[in-house]
Amino acid sequence: MMISEKMNANLNEQISAELFAAYKYLAMACAFERMGLKVLAERFLDQCEEERGHAMRIVRYVQEVGAKVELEAIRKPPKDYKDAEAIVKAALEGELAITKLLNDLMALAEKENDYATRSFLHWFVDEQVEEVASMTDLLTLVKLSRGNMLQVEARVRHEMGKKT
Ligand code: MG
Repeated sequence: MMISEKMNANLNEQISAELFAAYKYLAMACAFERMGLKVLAERFLDQCEEERGHAMRIVRYVQEVGAKVELEAIRKPPKDYKDAEAIVKAALEGELAITKLLNDLMALAEKENDYATRSFLHWFVDEQVEEVASMTDLLTLVKLSRGNMLQVEARVRHEMGKKT
């Protein structure tokens, strides 16, 4: 095994954290769907898939370095949100929490002179900069629109079109 027991355990926790993030995005997408905000629902479903992808990336890495994947229970996501702004705010908080966990993982990798894991984590660190920026932009947009969610939907649709 190329990584320490402690790193193995922390990477397993990160797999759960990413899956919990995916689970929360799914709950948020369903909440948007109930509000009739289909574009935001779609955007958050994409986000759910991304988080699942992050979890799988770590699963493959743990296996590659000859360590053991142990899956934990995934917590129940919040049942309901007050409004669209509350959802986006919760999403941003979630991204900031994930960023903190990744920074802690990176710090451990540095402390242990674990260069392989450090290199592996680089992609995640960069990815989080993007995730936090895009969720911050979305929150700003929702606030600026002052409840005009159709305007927000049009803008998000436009942004999503540019990506594909
Ligand atoms: Mg993630």
